[in-house]
Amino acid sequence: MNSPVLIVEDEPKLARLMSNYLQQAGYEAECLENGLEVLPRIRERMPALILLDLMLPGRNGVDICKDIRSFSSVPIIMVTARIEEIDRLLGLELGADDYICKPFSPREVVARVKAVLRRSSEQLPSIVPPVLQLDENRLLAILRGQELELTVVEFNLLEFLSANPGRIYGREQLMDHIYPDQRIVSDRTIDSHIKNLRRKIACVSPDIEVIHSVYGVGYKYDPQ
Ligand code: CA
Repeated sequence: MNSPVLIVEDEPKLARLMSNYLQQAGYEAECLENGLEVLPRIRERMPALILLDLMLPGRNGVDICKDIRSFSSVPIIMVTARIEEIDRLLGLELGADDYICKPFSPREVVARVKAVLRRSSEQLPSIVPPVLQLDENRLLAILRGQELELTVVEFNLLEFLSANPGRIYGREQLMDHIYPDQRIVSDRTIDSHIKNLRRKIACVSPDIEVIHSVYGVGYKYDPQ
């Protein structure tokens, strides 16, 4: 038997409408109205996906989403009544898989549910976020979910080192990578860029060193 789609929605009419459409599309659907009922229910039986309203009696959708993400990567689609809320929710990095704004057409909900389920079935069973994500266009590194704003040189250094975790690079290799035009720079330049980079990393990850200096040799990236 397939796991159901769990609809957490305190407007009974809307919940029924979504449930009908999902059933017509071949899904099993279950509804809950109170936020406090969600965790006990999913601990009992993990749904295939959760449609989670933001404003709920008992416990709000944001807190529920955080609770769930502490132990499960079950697909979650957050539902909000305010379009401007979506930006705020994105900023909270809750780990929801998609966001839908009310009023919506039931067809749209079914399409989103299908898309999210398809995506999640294509992924590996656990969707633990990567330690480091790099966004070249914005010179932004996201380390364990936290943003680091970097200079071009710092970004390039981090990108280069992290491409081969554990591999040690000498200062010369790093300089060749950072200054391919063979500009004359002292190898202390690399040290000072690395120092700044490590300082920024320490701000978001004070407990774990990510870039290690290897005495007399150079540097390596190793987030373990
Ligand atoms: Ca509501």
